[in-house]
Amino acid sequence: MNYETGKLISVTSGETYSPFDGNCNALRIDKETFWTNRNSNSLEFLNHSCNANSYFDILRSWGNKDKLFIPLISLGPIHPSEHITIDYDAYSWDMKVTKCSFTCKCGSKFCRKTIAGFRFLNPKQKIQMRYISPHVIKEQLRNL
Ligand SMILES: [Zn+2]
Repeated sequence: MNYETGKLISVTSGETYSPFDGNCNALRIDKETFWTNRNSNSLEFLNHSCNANSYFDILRSWGNKDKLFIPLISLGPIHPSEHITIDYDAYSWDMKVTKCSFTCKCGSKFCRKTIAGFRFLNPKQKIQMRYISPHVIKEQLRNL
């Protein structure tokens, strides 16, 4: 499929839980709340890129904690041959705490090499982020 900027790619449902259980594939949707789909493991196939072409729009999620639907939105035109990717730094303030930081090999010219959470980005990298989840924005403001 070909996606224009800002289009709905898919809607994924998952359950939320707390506290962190060691699953680095779970998406952090709030400071202490994680979201995953244990049945389909669909999140595990959504890789990180430092130049991601989509994002989970947490503010526009709906449902309840057992079945939370989060829309996946395109950040730019996506060619059918491209993999759908998200930027993990947009969802985590500090991945070192959860031991989920990793070395990135996304191949983008913007590759940040080490993905460890939003707090470790330099100001230029922070400005270049095209999506930042609400709880990460809150942490950023708290740490000014
Ligand atoms: Zn990268």
